[in-house]
Amino acid sequence: MSLKMVYGFSEGNAKMKALLGGKGANLAEMTRSGLPVPHGFTITTEASHDFFQMGNRMKDDLLAQIQSALTRLESDTGQRFGDADNALLVSVRSGSVTSMPGMMDTILNLGLNDDTVQGLAALTGNERFAYDCYRRLIQMFGSIVLGVESYHFESLLHKMKKNTGAKLDQDVTSEGWRNLVDEYKSCIKMKTGREFPQQVHEQLKMAVEAVFKSWNNNRAQIYRKINHIPDDQGTAVNVQRMVFGNKGDDCGTGVVFTRNPSNGDNELFGEYLVNAQGEDVVAGVRTPYPIDTLKVAMPEIYEQLAQVCKLLERHYKDMQDIEFTVENGKLYVLQTRTGKRNAQAAMKLAVDFVKEGIISREEALQRIEASHLDQLLHRGIDESKVLELLATGLPASPGAAIGVAAFDADTAAEWNRTGKQVILIRPETTPEDIHGVLASEGVLTSRGGMTSHAAVVARGMGKPCVCGCEGVRIDLEARRMIAGDRIIGEGEWVTLDGASGRVILGAIPLQDAAATTELLQILEWADEIRKLRVYANADNPVDAQTARSFGAEGIGLCRTEHMFFAPSRLTVMQRMIMADTTDERKAALAQLLPMQQSDFEGIFQAMDGFSVTIRLLDPPLHEFLPKASELQRKLDDTDSIEEKALLAQMIRKVHSLHESNPMLGLRGCRLGILYPEIYDMQIEAIFNAAASCMDRGVSVIPEIMIPLVGHASELERLRKRVDRVAGQVMQARACNYKVGTMIEVPRAALTARQIAAHADFFSFGTNDLTQMTFGYSRDDAEGKFLTQYLDQKVLQHNPFQALDTEGVGQLIGMAVAAGRSLKPALKTGICGEHGGEKASIAFCHEIGLDYVSCSPFRIPMARIAAAQAEIEQIHRSEL
Ligand code: ADP
Ligand code: MG
Ligand code: MG
Repeated sequence: MSLKMVYGFSEGNAKMKALLGGKGANLAEMTRSGLPVPHGFTITTEASHDFFQMGNRMKDDLLAQIQSALTRLESDTGQRFGDADNALLVSVRSGSVTSMPGMMDTILNLGLNDDTVQGLAALTGNERFAYDCYRRLIQMFGSIVLGVESYHFESLLHKMKKNTGAKLDQDVTSEGWRNLVDEYKSCIKMKTGREFPQQVHEQLKMAVEAVFKSWNNNRAQIYRKINHIPDDQGTAVNVQRMVFGNKGDDCGTGVVFTRNPSNGDNELFGEYLVNAQGEDVVAGVRTPYPIDTLKVAMPEIYEQLAQVCKLLERHYKDMQDIEFTVENGKLYVLQTRTGKRNAQAAMKLAVDFVKEGIISREEALQRIEASHLDQLLHRGIDESKVLELLATGLPASPGAAIGVAAFDADTAAEWNRTGKQVILIRPETTPEDIHGVLASEGVLTSRGGMTSHAAVVARGMGKPCVCGCEGVRIDLEARRMIAGDRIIGEGEWVTLDGASGRVILGAIPLQDAAATTELLQILEWADEIRKLRVYANADNPVDAQTARSFGAEGIGLCRTEHMFFAPSRLTVMQRMIMADTTDERKAALAQLLPMQQSDFEGIFQAMDGFSVTIRLLDPPLHEFLPKASELQRKLDDTDSIEEKALLAQMIRKVHSLHESNPMLGLRGCRLGILYPEIYDMQIEAIFNAAASCMDRGVSVIPEIMIPLVGHASELERLRKRVDRVAGQVMQARACNYKVGTMIEVPRAALTARQIAAHADFFSFGTNDLTQMTFGYSRDDAEGKFLTQYLDQKVLQHNPFQALDTEGVGQLIGMAVAAGRSLKPALKTGICGEHGGEKASIAFCHEIGLDYVSCSPFRIPMARIAAAQAEIEQIHRSEL
């Protein structure tokens, strides 16, 4: 028996996504539920794997299965493929497993040729319609299957309209379309040396092959990379009887969301066009009507559509994004999928669905995506600074963005590489522009609706977008945008407010957003479920306060060196480093002490009742000194003898501190062992601050963290100093402090049991631990080879973003186990950037760490990720 590679819509269901693709599985599910779906069949993703393996060829067996599915379709529809009197026409639609809107290709009206087009004209009594369909087929087939660039067709269309005086597509006569068909055909002949195929079975075979191949087109590859969709999923192909929204004024096509995807309100949201075919809405070539007006234009259809929406939403337990077409007053559903939503809507939908009893709290939490939170905690604009409103378009994706105007995707991408903030401005975007969208802060289009390509893609990426902004004219030739009597040239600053649709002149300062009540509800649920504690990385009282307001339950990393970089403190720090004697050094340190102390007091105050982990000085000393070349220049420029002497001395010092690899040199605890007075000062400042806060009734829990320990004896020595200074400062007062270390050197992980003897806690510094485990220096890696490594799939993920659980994670797991084997109560956590990344957080939960620590803005996300990890673990244990 041969493998089944073709399934009729009535043979599949929603669970078969991996095999039938998302579109195919849902078409089958809707067919089973009795919804009005035009008949069709799906060619499986397995068939696409075969196709690729055979060097882009279809097996005979597959061809035979397609033929018999087609024969069945003919008998279901009572039409025949290629029959001049009553032709079956089909669409050939791509359908990947994970939705990739607009990334792959679809061909409509397949089965039309010089004969069947006449049959269609006769059958419908509408020659204009028939030739409109035919020219669309040739255009899509020409560009997708035969590789003729679509602008050739666009310009022929444009010319024809100009010659016949037709402004809009609707004005074109039957004769106009007929002539265009001829011109399209000769264009194909000229560009490819072959005729547009008249044989309908050949059309079908070529179209299916082209859809398979579109899996590997450029934009699909980029989209998969951004969204972490595996390349080996492959794509399914759907072949479906055509229904026509372009037969007349009782026809139309549209897209509807079952709820509002930009705020979650419980109302139908979408757009439609009268007398139009599928692609017209999504492509943004005509600006469509809001779905509400359908209530008046076609009340019965609206009613039916509303019912379909309700049904599908209940069935899938989520907001749906539905494509529909109305053919001569009859509604057809052509696609349903989970609707993309922005952050605000995601929260509201999750909370509302729980309240409506459609899903559980746990399910709601699992639907929250990290990107949603990023977006929600995104910025708005400082209204008081808005001087000149240029125009207002559709508020397609919220959030505010500032950047310089770029009028094509390549420029946007290039400027982004040089570090510029860019706003991509286009009449409309196409999937070819995706790299430009990715590179820009926000997107502005002058045409297209809320479901146009630009809007969908920007929402998906969480980028602000204003579209259909007809108040601006975009002159691509002259690379400028005209709004009223203002001309904005390439490179000029503009601000977008995607929440209100405003386009504003200049760079308006942005402001942080506040959490919605729905987000607070979700976070409350997350806190009830999660086991991991969530701490913040914060180096000063302001960040500590922010962290606390986001729900931090402590500080996991306070880097003390940042306190020395402030200009007023740097000179004292430099004096400390320049000191030739211990006494001189101590004098400078005495000046630094009150500065550090006041910072610590502020932080303790902000974290009243929570632990604060303070890491003692870590970077190499030369980082605090200017560059030798710079000093030399100053020395050459000055006439003052005194200054010359000072500069010369500094240059000597800089040279003496020079290290060929500072990362592996005199850093962290090594510095503390060579210059103990530095750490003594810091410890004293910490306990002074603790004592003074305690006097004011603040509950203080200091945790002193020694960096870069690789050998137990390093920690043993330094711990003694901490205990001694603590004793001196605190005298007989009880202070509940801890001493621990960062585990960031592989040797520390390997000898964790010995190290644990002197530690109350381990905090995994996964940035350095990743560098040292891989033997990569992050700056060099990311700048030089890491991108290639990721492109060539030598590595699946950037290990500096997502924790390498296999290697670095193994070290962490070992160290935790070894440490706890000696001290069961050892506190453990991570404080690298991974502490704010979802998959890494799940790993930390799995191996039983006590906490993760991340930057303040990542905290809400981390709280949710921690709950998601717990929910998944419960699910797994129930299986
Ligand atoms: P995409 O994934 O890019 O949305 P689709 O395969 O969904 O591509 O099709 C593109 C457009 O063509 C959609 O608007 C869709 O509704 C329309 N379409 C697809 N198949 C048919 C069909 N059999 N009859 C009418 N319209 C169709
Ligand atoms: Mg679609
Ligand atoms: Mg480190």
